[in-house]
Amino acid sequence: TEADSGAPTIFDKIISKEIPSSIVYEDDKVLAFRDINPQAPVHVLVIPKLRDGLTELGKLHFVSRMIPILMAEPRHEDILGHLLHASKIVAEKEGIVDGFRVVINSGASACQSVYHLHLHVLGGRQLKWPPG
Ligand code: 5GP
Repeated sequence: TEADSGAPTIFDKIISKEIPSSIVYEDDKVLAFRDINPQAPVHVLVIPKLRDGLTELGKLHFVSRMIPILMAEPRHEDILGHLLHASKIVAEKEGIVDGFRVVINSGASACQSVYHLHLHVLGGRQLKWPPG
């Protein structure tokens, strides 16, 4: 598990479709695709298409060990809201509206492994709380 060094992550190749993924929803701003190692019958990742999740394409801040959600500024409210709304669309498409979870693991202590902002949408079984 490597924190962000400014290098591209595997999700860049998923966005560019160099690496195939099972896409659930896509628009001009976000991509939602099935997690390769699902932790529930439905496990979809929702990511912003921009390079590191929040900074604008071409204006990257090469800051090491940056947790994507900690890069959020007021000007990012639109994309953050768009990601959350996309998670609703995913839940509806996947038929899990009776109960699901939206999670952002942030930093090593929270088991973040890919340093491109992503929302996990989990459902299709009884989920435990607290997650541990
Ligand atoms: P994190 O632990 O950073 O919150 O979650 C990263 C997620 O990305 C993990 O659940 C992991 O299974 C998923 N993942 C990592 N590499 C790939 C990949 O190449 N394709 C897909 N579809 N998911 C991936």
